[in-house]
Amino acid sequence: MPDQITGINPSVPPSGDGCVECDATGGWWFHLRRCAECGHIGCCDTSPSQHATAHAQAHDHPLIKSYEPGESWFWNYSDDGFYEGPALAPPEHHPLNQPAPGPAGRVPKDWKRHLH
Ligand SMILES: [Zn+2]
Ligand SMILES: [Zn+2]
Repeated sequence: MPDQITGINPSVPPSGDGCVECDATGGWWFHLRRCAECGHIGCCDTSPSQHATAHAQAHDHPLIKSYEPGESWFWNYSDDGFYEGPALAPPEHHPLNQPAPGPAGRVPKDWKRHLH
């Protein structure tokens, strides 16, 4: 079963609607990524703080999945490639009424200047 794939635990739900670290510090993000192993939600590498990659490196969790509506791809940090993985515990993306960049009210007017 999929549980045996290293880096993926399909039964773990996502940690929340937004990036864990950005929500803790009042930050904002461009797009969101979900750790396929522990459900941690972090911001993408285009975002100012790049918490998804930081999480993967700090915890040795090699696979993330997009947490954007309509996107189902995985990214494998081990070989820097896209990956087709199984469905994960719902929800599979952040709420549809949550904008990107987000969250509402925390994105600066000049947000494009802060992207990577
Ligand atoms: Zn973040
Ligand atoms: Zn993780």
